[in-house]
Amino acid sequence: MMAALLRDAKESCEAVLRQDPTMPQAIALHDRITRLLEGDPAQREQPSIPTEEEILALDRIILQIEEGMERLAPRVLASAPGQYPYEVRDLKSPFDISEHNKENPQKNGLRIMRESRTGGQKSYRSAPGQFAYALLREDEVHVPGRTIGASYSPDSNFISLPRDFDPRCPLKLFDLYHEDLHVVQHANLRLKIGNEAYNSLYRQGGATPIIFPFEVEASGLHMEAIDRYLVGWLRQNVHLPVTPERESEFLRRMEAPEVFRPQAQSLLQGAQRFFPRGYRYPLNQEFIDGIYHAYSDRPLYAFAADGRSVVRI
Ligand SMILES: [Zn+2]
Repeated sequence: MMAALLRDAKESCEAVLRQDPTMPQAIALHDRITRLLEGDPAQREQPSIPTEEEILALDRIILQIEEGMERLAPRVLASAPGQYPYEVRDLKSPFDISEHNKENPQKNGLRIMRESRTGGQKSYRSAPGQFAYALLREDEVHVPGRTIGASYSPDSNFISLPRDFDPRCPLKLFDLYHEDLHVVQHANLRLKIGNEAYNSLYRQGGATPIIFPFEVEASGLHMEAIDRYLVGWLRQNVHLPVTPERESEFLRRMEAPEVFRPQAQSLLQGAQRFFPRGYRYPLNQEFIDGIYHAYSDRPLYAFAADGRSVVRI
């Protein structure tokens, strides 16, 4: 009913804009209605019910991811403590959560969707720090200006992967490492601000809010973890220009195909801002500004002075 009214209003705006495409009130109203319609779950395309084959294929990918994370962990955590200004506990938490999630009986999000859509299970609730995997739609993978490697939804507590996600590729496992960190951060956030505030933050419709300090931390630890995996190759070479040859070398070391060259380029450029200062000791404004720029199209939040609530920035 509400959506029908909004659609009518949107059409009226469009009719006005055809007469005068510069009218500010009509432009503003049109934008507002579009956002409202996008924020209304009933307006979003209903995904089709996952097939049994899709569910079993995701089971196999999850198993390979868990094995892959187990293989990466010792290489990332091998460096001597104190060599870098990061606590091993922080770097280790995504591996711990991947391990902890092995015991989650509801980690296949496609199975949960199928059961809930076919009248079986009506709701699902994971234990703290556990999460489920799902798949991204095509339009969610190719967003203008970037390609999404994996994505965490704080509302559903799902990590979603592209359909062609390759769990044997270390570069892609590190995309997951980043999202696993978001699972840890959001489990802590829920404890800190309480269920009610958490739910109202993430169920307001529209673009998903980003907790900016979480993104800085996840991007920083992501960079640090890749560097440790490459035994310091990233940090030792940040003085060199980012050339196609260095991108190729990075792709080779990360066992990643050519299609990920744009990601290789942006990681190498990010490394130049990141090393050797890191993101925490001392504050690295250049790196933080780079993250801010990458997420400036999203609603950004930070912790309030009391540390127990979040405020829009
Ligand atoms: Zn992130």
